[in-house]
Amino acid sequence: MLNEKIAVITGASRGIGAAIAKKMAENGANVIINYQGSVQAAQALEAEIREKGGKAVTYKCDVSDFDKCEKFIGDIVKEYGRIDILVNNAGITRDGLLMGMKEEDFDSVINVNLKGTFNTIRFASRAMVKQRKGKIFFFHSSVSGVTGNAGQANYSASKAGIIGLTKSAARELASRNINVNAIAPGFVDTDMTITLSDKVKEGAKGQIPLGRFGKPEEVAELALFLSSEKSDYITGQVINIDGGMVM
Ligand code: NAP
Repeated sequence: MLNEKIAVITGASRGIGAAIAKKMAENGANVIINYQGSVQAAQALEAEIREKGGKAVTYKCDVSDFDKCEKFIGDIVKEYGRIDILVNNAGITRDGLLMGMKEEDFDSVINVNLKGTFNTIRFASRAMVKQRKGKIFFFHSSVSGVTGNAGQANYSASKAGIIGLTKSAARELASRNINVNAIAPGFVDTDMTITLSDKVKEGAKGQIPLGRFGKPEEVAELALFLSSEKSDYITGQVINIDGGMVM
């Protein structure tokens, strides 16, 4: 399905990004596993993909750093000559109530989640415009970014910003045959949600019509579809994958 496509996935050492990397590699893509701190997890994922006959390399880069992203994307284009798929998945939370939120916790969440997304698309879109073809998608959050969430003002602001970025980029790049969409998960079982208390988890499940958290592999299926030619007529959309939580 993605034969020999060059797929850059940010924050792919763990969670949803790792599941997307595996799924894309199983479907023939050459995946670039970006990570920031989890070197062992990233290398283990690369080894797992290669053992199964897939193609993968790791690349350390802090997506919140504009200059490092220029080098990161530049190195990939130099090495492979193109970028077919860009998945802006890297994300963090630094939860806290607004009145006590530290400035650094606001800044770091905006810098990784929103500016990091800008940084990578800023450089990768250049390569895609030359190719006159590309697939880009961002990671939004169906709950926090749309309805807001107490204790997540920084995260909600970063994810709401991604909606504007998705739609503007989709309009700018459509004439070059580049699709830009956003995936909006609800609650997915990863390190990001593992720290939630049982009480919060049960409360959340009570608001999910399908009655459970999603699995990273389920999100990866949507990512595969959005990376393939099957989604060529979809752009500028925010697609919820949340068990029906936000309708
Ligand atoms: P996760 O398990 O916590 O993994 C986060 C990934 O982001 C890790 O691979 C991490 O790499 C990477 N990362 C963090 N800071 C980075 C930086 N500065 N530069 C490069 N990579 C960085 O998260 P997840 O649950 O898979 O979430 C993935 C995306 O989905 C995020 O954008 C998140 O906001 C969104 N989302 C998740 C949920 C959910 O319920 N899980 C719901 C809605 C939206 P290192 O460990 O190497 O630093």
